[in-house]
Amino acid sequence: MPPVKASALAPADFAQRFAEAALRQGFRAEPLTKVAGVPLAAYTKRTPGPRPRLYLSAGIHGDEPAPPLALLRMMEAGVFDHRATWFICPLLNPAGFMRGIRENADGTDLNRDYKDLRTAEITAHVKWLRCQPPFNTTFCLHEDWESTGFYLYELNPEGLPTLADTMIAAARDHGPIETATVIDGREIDEPGIIRPVADPLMRETWPEAIYLRAHHTRRSYTLETASAQPLEQRIATQVAVVTAALNKTTRPA
Ligand SMILES: [Zn+2]
Repeated sequence: MPPVKASALAPADFAQRFAEAALRQGFRAEPLTKVAGVPLAAYTKRTPGPRPRLYLSAGIHGDEPAPPLALLRMMEAGVFDHRATWFICPLLNPAGFMRGIRENADGTDLNRDYKDLRTAEITAHVKWLRCQPPFNTTFCLHEDWESTGFYLYELNPEGLPTLADTMIAAARDHGPIETATVIDGREIDEPGIIRPVADPLMRETWPEAIYLRAHHTRRSYTLETASAQPLEQRIATQVAVVTAALNKTTRPA
């Protein structure tokens, strides 16, 4: 299967194509709900033996197309193999993705709904998450309309080995790293790396990463490519960054 030509894949075709690729790779489809006629689904593959449990999500903001397309490309390439047990939600905001807008059809930013659970999408997502075993590491894939380069957030309160440096190095092969020292109102810790120090649980509206860190994972990453760059470059960056992180975290000790 050749790589996805991002420009050639209509939003309406994404869910079906992802489902087909996932089933070919031995994943099980778990439909969570249906939005605007498009399934919001999780895909899981459990590998026997001691393996890290890794969670990846994308598409919670419908105007950020590179992350879902990057997960599709990785799924079709067989990246999600026997090295781990996988939990993947490739398109958390189907209605927004279909329209190319950040919010869902009701105008709600789904990535602020993990505390109140007002939306059907996040209610279904959280209900599913509560049935899953704890994750070792989670990756939430995003894009930023204001940045000029790649950056990431790390929530790693136990001080586990970091994957941030590995991901920054991988991103640098495909484009610039964000140079701002304050990103989205937060001081960077290193170039391109934000490690929020304030207790994230105090925030009034919870993004997915905060919820995951509070209830489901020991280590959480949010990855951000710059929307200003060409789509193909952003997809390649997301693929490279995630692949590098997976290679590092699944390497036998
Ligand atoms: Zn986003």
